[in-house]
Amino acid sequence: MRPFKLLRYCIEYCKLVFKAIKYELWLRSRGVHVGSVVKKSFFRVKPRIGDPDKFRQTMLMYAKKTREFQVQEEAGEPLPITKIAGQPWWPEGIQRPKCKHGHAMNFVAQIFIPDVPLPNMPESSLLSFHYCDQCTSDGRTFFGWIDKENRGYDLSIFHDIDKRKPDMRGLLAPSMTKSYNVSFRDIEEVPGGLCEDANIEPVDEPRDFPQGRDDFDEDIYPGLKHVAKSKIGGWPTWVQFPEWPVNQQGEKYKFLGQLDWRLFDGTAWCSGGYAYLFITVDNNTQFKAELVIQIT
Ligand SMILES: [Zn+2]
Repeated sequence: MRPFKLLRYCIEYCKLVFKAIKYELWLRSRGVHVGSVVKKSFFRVKPRIGDPDKFRQTMLMYAKKTREFQVQEEAGEPLPITKIAGQPWWPEGIQRPKCKHGHAMNFVAQIFIPDVPLPNMPESSLLSFHYCDQCTSDGRTFFGWIDKENRGYDLSIFHDIDKRKPDMRGLLAPSMTKSYNVSFRDIEEVPGGLCEDANIEPVDEPRDFPQGRDDFDEDIYPGLKHVAKSKIGGWPTWVQFPEWPVNQQGEKYKFLGQLDWRLFDGTAWCSGGYAYLFITVDNNTQFKAELVIQIT
């Protein structure tokens, strides 16, 4: 190994360990104990040199369909479709979400669930995502699933939306971002890295992984793609350690999609990060969604 490469490895190693310590302290300050993140990171960041073809083959075994958002600025009518901001489609007779401090939450996005390339999803259903911007301004930023107590977000799933009417109340809190209508670009993608929670069989990364011109380049390695933008289905683009929510039966939620920082300029994750959305069926009957926010 040339001295320059060795030095680069050492610097990367120290940076990752420092990040892990910071993250663990942050989790502990919120009363969350996740085992030793630091210990795991020592194991994870060992320079490993894998064979490119074996690595590629293994990653391709985990390829999934994803649908990247193609956005167009629109006025944002309250239609029951996948869209960003604008007016929400919210059913008549149901109270709009408020945080526990009494603020009307801000509408972020909604997803028409049959758009998501996942099996056994409910038909004619809509997920609506609200977040409390006032609380973030007041110094309470909500990171989703790990905030067991202090929730400042709402994920509601409405069924039989073709039989229900919207409340037509417009926006009850200012929009956090521009309003976009969404269409999709379908693509097969692999996980963005070897996250241990993706249950990927152990395979060493080649020395030159990952590649890509910038954070959003989908060509992460020759023959492998991963979409790091807003999308539904596929694999999350984690920017910290993976945090898959787990339901009451101890099963992992399914990944529904992610919202990137480019399109969400007024949100808590706008400076670099994602809001990840997940879905599960609790007690075999009720669909439930969950949120995780990670920032860099
Ligand atoms: Zn609030």
